[in-house]
Order: sequence, then C-alpha cells, then structure tokens
Amino acid sequence: MHYDTIIIGAGTMGMAAGYFLAKQGKSVLLLDAFNPPHDQGSHHGETRIIRFAYGEGKAYVPLALRALDLWQELEKISGKQLFLKTGVLNIGSKDHSFIQNVIESAKDFNLSVDVYSAQEVNKKWPGIMLPEGFIGCFEPSAGVLRVEACIDAYKTAALSEGATLKTNTRVVKIVPGEKVSVHTEEEVFIADSIIISAGARVNDILKSVDLTLPITPLRKTFAWFNADEAVYGSHFPAFTYEDENSSYYGFPSIDGAGFKVGRHDTGDEVSPDDVIREFDEADATELVQFNEKIMHQVGTLKYGKTCFYSKTPDEDFIIDSHPFHDNIYIAAGFSGHGFKFGSVIGEILSQLVLNGKSELDISLFKLMRF
Ligand SMILES: Cc1cc2nc3c(=O)[nH]c(=O)nc-3n(C[C@H](O)[C@H](O)[C@H](O)COP(=O)(O)OP(=O)(O)OC[C@H]3O[C@@H](n4cnc5c(N)ncnc54)[C@H](O)[C@@H]3O)c2cc1C
Repeated sequence: MHYDTIIIGAGTMGMAAGYFLAKQGKSVLLLDAFNPPHDQGSHHGETRIIRFAYGEGKAYVPLALRALDLWQELEKISGKQLFLKTGVLNIGSKDHSFIQNVIESAKDFNLSVDVYSAQEVNKKWPGIMLPEGFIGCFEPSAGVLRVEACIDAYKTAALSEGATLKTNTRVVKIVPGEKVSVHTEEEVFIADSIIISAGARVNDILKSVDLTLPITPLRKTFAWFNADEAVYGSHFPAFTYEDENSSYYGFPSIDGAGFKVGRHDTGDEVSPDDVIREFDEADATELVQFNEKIMHQVGTLKYGKTCFYSKTPDEDFIIDSHPFHDNIYIAAGFSGHGFKFGSVIGEILSQLVLNGKSELDISLFKLMRF
C-alpha cells in the first residue's frame, strides 16, 4: 500500500508529526512497535517539565516558546488540560553553566525569571533546604505537561485528520529509493518519504540504511514519594537541580500522586529490548539521599519506574535527513529533554517533509556535526 509519508515510531515526535502532516491533507501511515502512549519507550510517568529560559542553551528558547503555543492549541482541539502552570525553579550554584544559561536566555528573550538566594528559596518554599552558595531561578510561566495525555491527544487528532495508525507493528527493515519500502514483520508499505522517530531503538532501523547514530540508550529511573500536600502540593514548583557532581529534576504532587523525583545525569547503557525494567533498591537509594539533602520534608518511597533516554554526545538533538537519501528524515537523540518540544518538532518535521526546510532554526541539530 502506498502513502505520502510513513512515520516509524508513533511516540512523542512521531505522533505529533503524523498529526501535522495529516492536517495538511497528506496520506500518513504511523507504525509503532507498541500501542502509544505506552511504558516501553521514553514517554511515560505522568509528567514532563516544560521551561523556556533554557539551561541547555538559548538556541532552544524559540522552540520552547512555539512548543507551548502548540500544546495549548492541542488543549483546545482535544478539550483536555495538558499543561499545568506550576512554575519551574532552576536550582544550582550561581556560576553553574546551566544556571548562567537560564539567566542569559531570560535576558535575551525578555522572559520573566525571578532570581532568589538560597535563604530566600528556603523561606518561600519550606519544603526546600538549599545550602549557602546556591540560587534559585524561578520561571512562573513554565510548568508541567501531562505526558501520556499529550500523546493520546495527538493520536486522536491525527486519526481524526485521516492518518492511519498500526500499533504493535514493529518495523524491521527499510529499503531506500525514490519510493521507500518499509518492512514490518508481516507486511511491506511504500511511501514517497519516511520519518524515523523510533526513540531509543532508532539504530535498529537505521542499520538497514548503513547508518549508526552516536546515540546511547540509557536506563533511567524515577519515583514518587509520600509528601505533605500542604508543602509539596500543586502550588509547589517543578524544579531542576544542578551541582558539581549531579543533576536532578522533580515535580509537585499532582492529583495526590506524590512528590516525583528523578536523576538526570548518570544511567546505565542498555539495549532497550533486553533491560531490567524493575525499579530496585539501589535505584531508590540515590533519590532518597537527594530528598534527605534538599527536599527534606519528603516522606517515604511510594514506587518507582524505569524509562529510556537516547543520549547524544553533546546532548543536543538530531533532526535531519539521511546524508544520502533526502526523503528519509530522522528525529532522534532527545537526550532526556525532548518531550516539551514534541509539539514543535512534529510541526518542524511536517515542514521538512513538505517544504524541505523548517521555519524555526534547527541548524544545531544537524547530523554532520558528529
Ligand atoms: C524519566 C524521564 C524523564 C524525562 N523528563 C523530561 C522532562 O521533564 N522534560 C522534557 O522535555 N523531556 C523529558 N524527558 C525526555 C523525553 O520524554 C524524551 O526526549 C522524548 O519522549 C523522546 O521522544 P521520542 O519520540 O524520541 O521517543 P518515544 O516517545 O519513546 O517514541 C519512540 C517510539 O518509537 C517506537 N518504536 C521503536 N522502535 C520501533 C520499530 N522498530 N518499529 C516501530 N516503532 C518503533 C516506540 O514504540 C515508541 O513509541 C524525560 C525522559 C525520561 C525517560
């Protein structure tokens, strides 16, 4: 069967791209090895942070701002609340490069960010205990996205625009050419162009077009803890935390789910289909230690989960066409900070397929930088 575009991996990026292409009248086939939203990739766990004064670099700011507009548009289409404006507190030592980038991004893009000393943070949010030398950059317009609900909303929207979605359908091979053949375990589909957005498993597919991306799949863990709603309820900000040796992030207790925290740096290199999925005692230990040190009023562990990052060497994304096949587009390597951009990357991928270029600058994400 022939389509204008086939999307391999209907997760965060793929599902959004499917919606934008179908909305513009293209025939779109979305193929996924599981049934998105699911807990076998990088898009589960209830919540993701969206922030605009960007610690990873100011080149991301226009993308983050456009992403929020599109998430809010999706809220209107779906009639569901996807974004919670909790504010985000970026914590770190004053001269940490992440914190410097937050302050610079805010200045350059005129974003509202309040900078507090450790003492001021501790007073404003009694659930936090920062040592001297740390500061907190609070961005009130930032917040939290409901991750599975976002994917589900793009899925419903893509299907209602006429896209076809085949779930539990793993792509095993692609054959490039003027028309690209996409082989699943049982069928072959043909398209004028394809998008490969297969998350942590992207290199399994790229093998068949002689390409290996410098992407490391990492096993990541996160957990929910019992917490006093008066201290850590939804008036508490989502946060990022950086010190010389570690990097954490976390969320207020939303809908009574408990205080959620995860470690951003570290993680074991794994093969996504051959990994210990259970959250174990060792996983809990480092999160408990972080809470004891910084989030000192958080209670006991409720439960934890595991997920994947797809990490590039510089932690910037890869959004580009294949070096030798310009009708094969790749969106991968989102390095643990991609979800917030899912909406805008879907839009960008549709522009690449339809016009060969995107309206926003994505030169940072070129494959040739490696
Ligand atoms: C614990 C954790 C916390 C995070 N926190 C944040 C945060 O606060 N803010 C933020 O912005 N980002 C965050 N991220 C990162 C963000 O969630 C990811 O960058 C983003 O979800 C990646 O999207 P993706 O489309 O590449 O992958 P996915 O959403 O996993 O989609 C890939 C899809 O491809 C499918 N697939 C794979 N192989 C095949 C195949 N052979 N055939 C067919 N389909 C296939 C998979 O089933 C999957 O559905 C976090 C990630 C994790 C794991």
